Amino acid sequence: MASFAIHGIPVSRGISIGRAHVFAPAALDVKHYLVERENLEAEVSRLQDAIATVHKELQTIWMDLPKDAPTELGAFIDVHALILSDPLISEAPLDIIRTRCYNAEWALVTQIDELSAQFDEIEDVYLRERKADIQQVAERVLKVLTGSQQAPMPRRANDNASAQMIVVARDISPADMLQFRDGSFIGFATDVGGQNSHTAIVARSLDIPAVVGLAHASTLIKQDDWLIIDGEAGVVIANPDQLLLQQYRKLHASQLAARKRLLKLKKTPAVTKDGTEITLLANIELPDDCEFALESGAHGVGLFRSEFLFMGRTSHAHKLPSEEEQFEAYRKAVVGMKGHPVTIRTIDVGADKQLDSSEQTALNPALGMRAIRYCLAEPLLFLTQLRAILRASKYGKVKLLIPMLAHAHEIDQALAMIEQAKAQLRDAGHEFDPKIQVGAMIEIPAAALALPMFVKRLDFLSIGTNDLIQYTLAIDRVDHEVAHLYNPLHPAVLQLISMTIKAGHKAGISVSVCGEMAGDIKHTRLLLGLGLREFSMHPAQLMAVKQEILNSDVVALTSQAKKILRAVEPQVIAEAVKRLRVM
Ligand code: PEP
Ligand code: MG
Repeated sequence: MASFAIHGIPVSRGISIGRAHVFAPAALDVKHYLVERENLEAEVSRLQDAIATVHKELQTIWMDLPKDAPTELGAFIDVHALILSDPLISEAPLDIIRTRCYNAEWALVTQIDELSAQFDEIEDVYLRERKADIQQVAERVLKVLTGSQQAPMPRRANDNASAQMIVVARDISPADMLQFRDGSFIGFATDVGGQNSHTAIVARSLDIPAVVGLAHASTLIKQDDWLIIDGEAGVVIANPDQLLLQQYRKLHASQLAARKRLLKLKKTPAVTKDGTEITLLANIELPDDCEFALESGAHGVGLFRSEFLFMGRTSHAHKLPSEEEQFEAYRKAVVGMKGHPVTIRTIDVGADKQLDSSEQTALNPALGMRAIRYCLAEPLLFLTQLRAILRASKYGKVKLLIPMLAHAHEIDQALAMIEQAKAQLRDAGHEFDPKIQVGAMIEIPAAALALPMFVKRLDFLSIGTNDLIQYTLAIDRVDHEVAHLYNPLHPAVLQLISMTIKAGHKAGISVSVCGEMAGDIKHTRLLLGLGLREFSMHPAQLMAVKQEILNSDVVALTSQAKKILRAVEPQVIAEAVKRLRVM
């Protein structure tokens, strides 16, 4: 098999060597012929029979699932059964046979192609994923029609030979990514995506090497091809020769050894050479992540992306988690952090994190009904979440973080709703921390430029550099075509970060960075120099950042950072930031 390499955007470090599990479907290549009028009903029956056979097949697979099978496997099958029952699949192709006289396979593929084209236009992460599901279902029906052996069931790796699987897909939605948390996949390669798309962030949080923006990986790479993913260089190598495999295995082993060495820093306090104490916090997506956060030496959770509790609820189609369910999740995180503070961000849906793909109507979702805007428009949903978070504050230190604030009236409305949630809890006899701290994500340039409005009203600030960069530079963080313009070191971005840190400290309130910049060792020293003392990142990055901190001298970095802020040319800034690392 010919070896080839594809270059993309590196989003999660490390090396993985394994076999490809291609989520994109193979081309639906079938015979095309016209059916005689008198045979049309027989052709219709042929397709109906094939659909019924696949229904039975799915049922049998479902019934035969072992008790310990991962729940997502059942969910996959549920989704496929639902798709199969949808009139767009079960009826529309029958009309095509009757009206255009196409053979059953051709009619089905025509319908699927039409649906696929519509999906492509919408360009929604969730819908794209559902497109792949539809194609998988169609493939299964085609296999029955053409009499070839049973189509493979939606597969996932297990503990034996297939355990070393690398997911290759056109795209993976953040919610679908969560299904891979159980450790059965060891790498991700996708055609689309950007450095700070939520899919990339989840890959980093899973600590699994990933490369996105590979353009044609899902069509060039074939099922079960051997792959090397180099998440540092942003390269995927298919069918490598023995020599290359050996080199990468060595590199992999040395990376693992380096990680092990870093683990020794777990209990070392994060203090710079000149004695400045730094707080290192974890970003989590689900309560179970707390264990890894503590193991990695985090002194709290700086960002609990609560929206992940609301996503990927395939088997409860569109149902939102109840107050009770949310409360249990938040309480679990609070108890799990064993006395360390947990900062719970209220739901940040919209943009590339849709709850329900059918809801996506905005032309510019990142500029649309996202985060706090969505919550204020859905007061019942917001109040339910606020009550659940407040109730969890009885079990440990909880802080409330509000995303995407830009306007004074949004802050005031959010604070009023927190008070309303407190009143409701009092009436219901629930206990909570009445003095719960409330903070704002500073992730819209307008917020960073209007800080007095924020510090006056709130208890702390957390800089969301991912969105701050997206909105400052007008670069969609999900769009790989503009990914090269996504620059954390752009002078405008640095000014906004610096202003926020200064304004917070002047007002005597804490400021953290919880965007990806906080976990990138290339930026640790710059952020220290800009005055940052609280970093929140994926637990997997904590030790490496701590090592940078231990080797840093804040006094020297402060004066260098001042110079960097005065620099005009991006090249000069980039080089100065690089030099900080060898100081
Ligand atoms: C950010 O924008 O930097 C952030 C931390 O939030 P998210 O990545 O979830 O938008
Ligand atoms: Mg954000």
